[in-house]
Amino acid sequence: MTAESGTAAAESTRAAELSSALTGLLTRIETACRAAGRDPDEVQLLPVTKFFPAADIEALYRLGRREFGESREQEAAAKVAALGHLSSVRWHMIGRLQRNKAKAVARWAHAVHSVDTERLAAALDSAAGAAREDGHRTAPLEVLLQVSLDGDPTRSGVSPDDLPRLADQVAAAEHLRLAGLMAIPPLAADPEPEFARLAALHTRLRADHPDATELSAGMSGDLEVAIRHGSTCVRVGTALMGERPITSG
Ligand SMILES: *Cc1c(COP(=O)(O)O)cnc(C)c1O
Repeated sequence: MTAESGTAAAESTRAAELSSALTGLLTRIETACRAAGRDPDEVQLLPVTKFFPAADIEALYRLGRREFGESREQEAAAKVAALGHLSSVRWHMIGRLQRNKAKAVARWAHAVHSVDTERLAAALDSAAGAAREDGHRTAPLEVLLQVSLDGDPTRSGVSPDDLPRLADQVAAAEHLRLAGLMAIPPLAADPEPEFARLAALHTRLRADHPDATELSAGMSGDLEVAIRHGSTCVRVGTALMGERPITSG
């Protein structure tokens, strides 16, 4: 076998692997929706492609996926640049974000799921404004507020007490659109009561902001529980892509 045909064979093996994992995952989501009495169309699958190469994203694109989640700005920006030939792709920033990366993220992200402070929201608003001015984007940046479910200040997420004020700020920002909420249950916690609390916070948020309909909740291990509690977007890495080479924060 030549080196080139070896590479092609490896690529088609990987594409087949992703195809079969995707089919299994979509069935799993559909089953969870039926069990919860929900329409599967209400729940979006967001493949989380961090640590995996652009070639994997291209394979998923050929399988019909158009939205991808990344958690590190530099890694994401490199993939966005490498995949510029793919049309209609929407990139989601789902990881912890430093304010000094706001400018870069506003150029490529359709949505940011991890906004948890007023300072970050303000930085993203001006960055999205600049990106619109210089032609890098047209639409406002979709913003999901990441909520801290356990109130641990060392972890990401706005506390439930501070959530209403942050929501009002984002809703009033010229270049942001308040899309909804996101949360990650604490590692060792039973996700059931965590997602129940999140759902209650979401209901309360929508009383003030009826268009903030998105609830980004559920990952490989707990997506069924999240769907039962109203998730509209499950962010799935491992169950689709396989084990990551290193774990990320
Ligand atoms: C990595 C990551 C995921 C995906 O986690 P899996 O357990 O691999 O499905 C979801 N959300 C965020 C914010 C992540 O960083």
